[in-house]
Amino acid sequence: MSSTVSVDAVVDHDLLERLTDRVVARPRAERVVAVAPFSGTPLAEVPLSTPDDVAAAAAAARDAAHWWAARPVAERARIIGRIHDLVLDRRAEIADLVQAEAGKARRDAFEEVADVALAARYVSARGPRVLRERRRLGALPGLTRAIEGYRPKGVVGVISPWNYPLTLAISDCLPAFVAGNAVVHKPDSQAVLTALLARSIAIEAGLPEALWQIVSGDGPVIGGAVVEHADYVSFTGSTATGRIVAARLGERLVGASLELGGKNPMLILDDADLDRAAEAAVRACFSNAGQLCMSMERLYVAARVREPFLERFLGRVESMRVGAAFDYSCDMGSLMSQAQLDKVRSHVDDAVAKGARVLSGGRARPDLGPWFHEPTVLDGVRPGMLAADLETFGPLASVYSVAGDDEAVELANDTPYGLNASVWTSDLRRGVAVARRLRAGSVNVNEGYSATWGSHDLPIGGMGASGLGRRHGREGILRYTEPQAIAVQRAHNIAPPAGMSYDTFSDALAKSLRVMRRFGRP
Ligand code: NAD
Repeated sequence: MSSTVSVDAVVDHDLLERLTDRVVARPRAERVVAVAPFSGTPLAEVPLSTPDDVAAAAAAARDAAHWWAARPVAERARIIGRIHDLVLDRRAEIADLVQAEAGKARRDAFEEVADVALAARYVSARGPRVLRERRRLGALPGLTRAIEGYRPKGVVGVISPWNYPLTLAISDCLPAFVAGNAVVHKPDSQAVLTALLARSIAIEAGLPEALWQIVSGDGPVIGGAVVEHADYVSFTGSTATGRIVAARLGERLVGASLELGGKNPMLILDDADLDRAAEAAVRACFSNAGQLCMSMERLYVAARVREPFLERFLGRVESMRVGAAFDYSCDMGSLMSQAQLDKVRSHVDDAVAKGARVLSGGRARPDLGPWFHEPTVLDGVRPGMLAADLETFGPLASVYSVAGDDEAVELANDTPYGLNASVWTSDLRRGVAVARRLRAGSVNVNEGYSATWGSHDLPIGGMGASGLGRRHGREGILRYTEPQAIAVQRAHNIAPPAGMSYDTFSDALAKSLRVMRRFGRP
């Protein structure tokens, strides 16, 4: 375990003051104190926006969006490419703030930096191609020229949670920008500082200031106001809030992508490479102290390999270094807040009271900081326990023995969620076959979550209670557009030529339709 390091030693308070000035809020707005989870000490005072501020932010964004949408897509993509370079250049400063604001280990903070670079590279390189107008099949071959185009939505509302304050702040904005939109962004109140730093870097890269408006405040009030003004919403957060946001957007007939919770299963089949699986399970369960939507909370292990897997897995969990350090000496940092710690404690205590057994960890660690908790593995978790039925979103994983692949798949799918899954086997065909049977938007074979998440060309999102729509890939860019159908009719109208009766016209049309089908025209 590593010792606590002073947050003040790494944080530039003058910079934070300048950044917090950029929140859209009145000059003497009420302020809330942002706290560093490593120590529980104040980091900065963040102004609170009002619903009127959100309306003003949306109006300014709408003005800017008109101009921005008229810029060539290549120009928009170039700015995003520069964001990639700046984020990598300034990775140490960014990682310091991410750690200070979110209390995570350095490796988890760097994972965010790397992910934003991947997202920016993908969007800048692929955006122009994805958004290019394309020819489609016209009604009458040779006579109808059909074109599919993509118009920006206008003002995109981005509502993001606290767990990945950099990645989830910027990665959903970049595709909106390349598609020609402006953004009104409400980060969680515990993640505003990193969002403001990301915005300032985007502006340094050439993004016009008015295009990315950041508002701050209470979820239902300020998030609710964003939902009222946006032409599309990218929401990331809990399933409960996602349902509220979706209901209101349904009334407004405004679209959304909803990236919600999960209770993700990891399947260790009887032929898995157990050393690799155990190493990956540690990362998959305890990255960001388990406060990761894609992280694994249920481990289904083939009975035949249960003991050798547990020996490897628990050995690694026991040796994890937990603590507050602004270098790479710790494997796991703090939980985000007292509320997070209380939730983890309630899941552990409830499971133990109902007969589950702690295989590793199980205790809070106030000696390390106010909200630290050990990485914890439980055995004997059953339906009716909080840890079985609900997303913990903390450093808690449960191990279950299964007889074979069928039972593993059945239990893995026995959840309303469907976000991420992981399958471990030496037989890659078997792995892909099992993946196809899992009800999850993302399945990693021989990885925990990074293979699908890091493949930015893949659409990522949830099935069932884990969400609607997809981020990343073509879908992640096109969600921010209105597809537009344009057809140019040449020479003849789609009607009987002058002098031809409808009888003759319909016979001729029926014949040509048969010919087209015979020749395989779709
Ligand atoms: P949350 O739903 O409480 O808050 C998310 C965001 O929504 C915050 O910015 C919050 O202020 C805002 N909000 C709250 N109420 C609102 C309302 N009525 N209208 C509009 N906005 C509102 O979620 P959380 O607890 O902060 O985040 C953790 C959850 O997020 C977990 O369930 C986790 O699995 C999920 N998550 C999902 C993904 C994903 O990609 N699927 C990624 C990260 C986190």
